[in-house]
Amino acid sequence: MGTLVSIRRHFAVAGSAWLLAVGGIGAARALEFSTVVIDAGHGGNDQGTSWAGVKESQLTLQVAERVEALLKKKGLKTEMTRRSDIFLPPDGRIEVANRQQESSIFVSIHFNSSSSWIFRGVESFYGGPASMPLAREIQNRMAKELNTDNRGIKRRLDLRVLRLTKGPAVLLECGFLSHPVERVRSQSTAYQQTLAQAICDGIMAVHDEPRAKPMEWLDRDWPSWTDYTLLGWVRHGLNQLLRDRRP
Ligand SMILES: [Zn+2]
Repeated sequence: MGTLVSIRRHFAVAGSAWLLAVGGIGAARALEFSTVVIDAGHGGNDQGTSWAGVKESQLTLQVAERVEALLKKKGLKTEMTRRSDIFLPPDGRIEVANRQQESSIFVSIHFNSSSSWIFRGVESFYGGPASMPLAREIQNRMAKELNTDNRGIKRRLDLRVLRLTKGPAVLLECGFLSHPVERVRSQSTAYQQTLAQAICDGIMAVHDEPRAKPMEWLDRDWPSWTDYTLLGWVRHGLNQLLRDRRP
């Protein structure tokens, strides 16, 4: 009898721990947003790093445009901080991020450089702890898909675009232009597309639809998990009723 109680207790404890773990992982990973602000680093007079005629500001825009196209295919809204070779100070980029009406994340795209040509690879920076899962998901995919060094993720509060943007924000260093091979690769369509796909996949890995506010909840059309519950049926019924009564 004592053994049975003990076994039951063990199962209960293990079960609760499992649920907590699964719930915890889910909660730590998910970010609610409907818009992605894509920031092509540098531009205009500010070329960023420049090696053997390859300008960072040009590559960041090319990659940003590819990321935008992929995210749109996934049904996310996007906003670009710049679409041409213009100069935009950090405050201008922060302003674009913070003027979003709907919940958004900020993804800044850069390329790296070093005084030593031997360094290569990708690294990602984030501001607040809430941005960490986003940085991690993108970083690991970039390193794996581009088959380059994984230099990890780091918290960087000295970067204004990470510190002053309201929503989750990351800054990605997408390869070393000072490394001869990575510089050549970075200009290729294949590298840029693989990179953009890794960034898009990382974003989608943490993406969660924003929870609707009370009125929207009654009015919206798209299906969600509530549609498969009793609550969902009630909402659906109310929705139909209200729709029928509208002129
Ligand atoms: Zn840069």
